[in-house]
Formats: sequence, C-alpha cells, structure tokens
Amino acid sequence: MKIIIINILQYNYLSKIINSFIYFFSFSLNLFKKIFPLINVFGMCIHCYEIILDNYLCIACWKQLKFLNHNRCGVCNVLVGSNICIGCNLNIKSIFVYNAIISNLILKLKYGKKYYISKFFIQLLGLFYNNKNNNLIIMYIPHYGYKQLKTSINTSLLLAYEFQNQYGGRIIHNILQKQNQLRQRDTKNYKERIDNGFKGYTINPDKKDLLKNKDILLIDDILTTGGTIISCGNLIKGCLPRRLDIFTISKVTA
Ligand SMILES: [Zn+2]
Ligand SMILES: [Zn+2]
Repeated sequence: MKIIIINILQYNYLSKIINSFIYFFSFSLNLFKKIFPLINVFGMCIHCYEIILDNYLCIACWKQLKFLNHNRCGVCNVLVGSNICIGCNLNIKSIFVYNAIISNLILKLKYGKKYYISKFFIQLLGLFYNNKNNNLIIMYIPHYGYKQLKTSINTSLLLAYEFQNQYGGRIIHNILQKQNQLRQRDTKNYKERIDNGFKGYTINPDKKDLLKNKDILLIDDILTTGGTIISCGNLIKGCLPRRLDIFTISKVTA
C-alpha cells in the first residue's frame, strides 16, 4: 500500500515536471515563432500534422516526395539542361512527381484555403528558378469557368501571388484569357471538345505589348498532358518576350 502511494506521488510529481516542461517548451516555441515568423510555420507537418520544428513537412512525409530532374524537359523528359526543349520549343520544368502527398496538399490549398501550402511550394520553386528580378512578369493560367470559380481557388493565381510576395516581380491580369465563346455545350462532338480544350485560351490584344522583350514566368500547379501549358506558352511566345520560363509544382508521370 505504501509503495503504491509513493508511486502515485512520484507519478504526480513526475507529471508536474513533464507538464511544466511542455508548458515551457510551447511557450518558448511560441515566442520563437513571434521572433522568427518565417522559420517555423506552425510547428506541424503540413501534410500529416505531426509536431515538428523548423520545417513544413515531417521527415516521413519528406521521404515520400520525389523531386524531378531539372535538367529534363517537364513534358518530353528529354535532357535539355537550362536550354529550351527542341521538341516543345519551350522551357517547361516541374518540381515534384505528382503523388498522394502532393495531391493532398494541392487539394488543401485549393478547397481548404490553406495558404501556407503555397508558401512551401513557392519557397521550393525559388530554389530552382534563377531569374528572380523585380522586372519579371508573373503569369498564371486563368480559371476554367464560372462554376469552378465559386467553389475553389485558382491555384495557379494563388501561386503567382505567392511568388510575387516572396521574390518580387509583378502579375499582369487578363492577358491570357479563357475563351468564353468556346463553351463545351456548343461543341458538336468529342473531337471538337478536345480541340477546344487546347484552343480555349487567347491573348488579350490590348495587353499584348506588355509582354514584348520582357522576362516571363508562368506558374501552374499540375502538369498532366502538357496541353494547356503548351498552348498558353505558345500564345505568350507570340507576344515576343525576351525569355519565357514555365514551372509547375508537380507532374503526373505514367
Ligand atoms: Zn508529415
Ligand atoms: Zn519538351
């Protein structure tokens, strides 16, 4: 009986120590976050919510991310180094292979309004993109249509905003435009529908000159077939920029 009581006493004593330690730890963690807001985001893994320090993802989640080789074209997978790919005549790069974690993070950003996820993506993009400057023009893929506009965020636009916040440059709106007159219900057959998918963007002729001789970065979240990116990239090229780089966060690989 005596032993049990001592044990309980010891337990209480110990738990008090542990509790005060946890309290002190969380207090100093919060203080640390106030002093260095950018170093520690939330103290949690943005994917699995595990408690961590000084990072966006825990080690287990990091290990599941697969970086793509940045010397290869994001569409054709041909070695190009920092040159333009001969096959698609564009410089398209992606950071990650699209997998369950990336999909989850993009969904959280798109539908859950978890904006800190875009910070994470853009910090990584900044490591690979070497043409950051204040004269840079940042572009995004405009939204598909009115319906999606109501239920989710245009991730491409959000990433563009985040890039502007972190590295400067400026976003120009309403240059790339989704052609509203090419609505899918007006198409006759499947083939036409697919064609319209690729032709569904135009360049606003009033703003065309804003891109001439400029350095341009086009950002999007997921690259699947590359159809959208390539058609938008070619439209931008038609405006005669000095340089055009295209980056997507992830790429769907077979
Ligand atoms: Zn995690
Ligand atoms: Zn290519």
